[in-house]
Amino acid sequence: MLNLVIFGSPGAGKGTQAKLIAKKYHLQHLSSGEILRQHRDHGLLGKKISTYQDKGRLVPNNLIIKIIESAINQLPIKQGLIFDGYPRNLTQAKSLASVLKKRKQEVNLVINLQLNERESTNRILLRGQNSGRHDDNLKTLKARFKIYQDESCPLIDYYHSQNKIKNIDGRPSINEVFAQITHVLDKIVLTSNLKSQKK
Ligand code: AMP
Repeated sequence: MLNLVIFGSPGAGKGTQAKLIAKKYHLQHLSSGEILRQHRDHGLLGKKISTYQDKGRLVPNNLIIKIIESAINQLPIKQGLIFDGYPRNLTQAKSLASVLKKRKQEVNLVINLQLNERESTNRILLRGQNSGRHDDNLKTLKARFKIYQDESCPLIDYYHSQNKIKNIDGRPSINEVFAQITHVLDKIVLTSNLKSQKK
């Protein structure tokens, strides 16, 4: 069973790579930003979510943790997962570990897509021309980067101490980044297949 997290700054390419990974390795793609965006137009909860997203702030933990836990628990135990945009802070990471533990699973690997703020900003502003996203603008981006630095980056140490981080250079083309990722994942899949054959 493969449970992955794709990590990185806003605009590092998490969504694009997560979709490609999900397809190749038959994983369910769980994008917290996307799941939240689907709630935006619905009632009071939607209004609350829009307020946070439009300011580039994180939706409160109690809300996102429940939403993600329920999304996970709707999926069969044997379905491997790729989390994109989740966890975003330590509380979420610890919650994810305990939700997966109930399924006798864990996060196997965190792919850390590395791209500096200038390049990420350029990509997002370009994406903003077509994405229709209310938060793909310069003002909101500043807030999103600050939260990434302050709240999300500590997750690198958290997962590093568990030996689960793999750094990937996010600068090259989509295909080249994907090739770096498959190089890593193919080895992991091979090793886990060999282990399960021995059992
Ligand atoms: P993303 O699509 O991952 O860039 O997320 C867009 C926005 O959705 C973020 O700026 C937050 O407002 C909200 N969001 C996404 N994921 C999370 C999360 N794990 N925790 C809190 N808020 C989130």
